[in-house]
Amino acid sequence: MASSVCINHTDRTATARCHTCHKPLCADCALKGEAGTFCSVNCQDNYEKFMGQYEVRRRPGFFTKLKNLIVTLFALGLVAALVLFVGGKIMHWGWCMDLLKRLGL
Ligand SMILES: [Zn+2]
Ligand SMILES: [Zn+2]
Repeated sequence: MASSVCINHTDRTATARCHTCHKPLCADCALKGEAGTFCSVNCQDNYEKFMGQYEVRRRPGFFTKLKNLIVTLFALGLVAALVLFVGGKIMHWGWCMDLLKRLGL
């Protein structure tokens, strides 16, 4: 059973496996991180990058929500500008005319 022996120490029994490349590792070779056990920093980075991509794919709602928020704010801005213009130029509301004057319109 070659897989039960550490890749770096053929005389030691593997106690863990790299999360990324699945190489068998002994206690001294296993690099323990928050995400799991790895054979090298490189494998740990690859795994975290992979998980990062997975998170983004699993939660596409964040970008949709952000886009909706921007669209909503833009629409609110348009409505506010319209109210201000109509109120100041047509209805002659004092506060609207003041604001328009301040904006130089
Ligand atoms: Zn590895
Ligand atoms: Zn080892």
